[in-house]
Amino acid sequence: MSEKKEQLHTQACKARNHAYSPYSHHKIGAAVLLDNGYVYSGCNVENASYGGTICAERVAVVKAVSETQAPVKIEEICVVSDARDPWPPCGFCRQVIAEFAHPDVKVHVGNLEGIKKTYKLKELLPDAFGPAFLKKY
Ligand code: ZN
Repeated sequence: MSEKKEQLHTQACKARNHAYSPYSHHKIGAAVLLDNGYVYSGCNVENASYGGTICAERVAVVKAVSETQAPVKIEEICVVSDARDPWPPCGFCRQVIAEFAHPDVKVHVGNLEGIKKTYKLKELLPDAFGPAFLKKY
């Protein structure tokens, strides 16, 4: 594993330890690497309303946006669960990642053993809806 991927995996695993998941009992961690070199991580935070639940990926992205001065540009993202076949981001998270990432951005998915698969964002969300569409209206 490259040093960058390893760092992201480690950060995602650390964040996973903070997951608040009393309903699903699935702890998820995520880490995003920005083009400025900063890494932000997040865990899933569930809610009794279910609809108020936020995934680890979105927590990491929201933290990056709220804590970074410059425009957020995601370079890579890593998502970690304890599933044998690692879980890719849900559709909602794919859309949120796409807001701040180039379609070629790498999305690593893994479990506690390590990264098991790497996608390009455009494979997970082809023809993503983005800000450019709003300008064409
Ligand atoms: Zn999600």
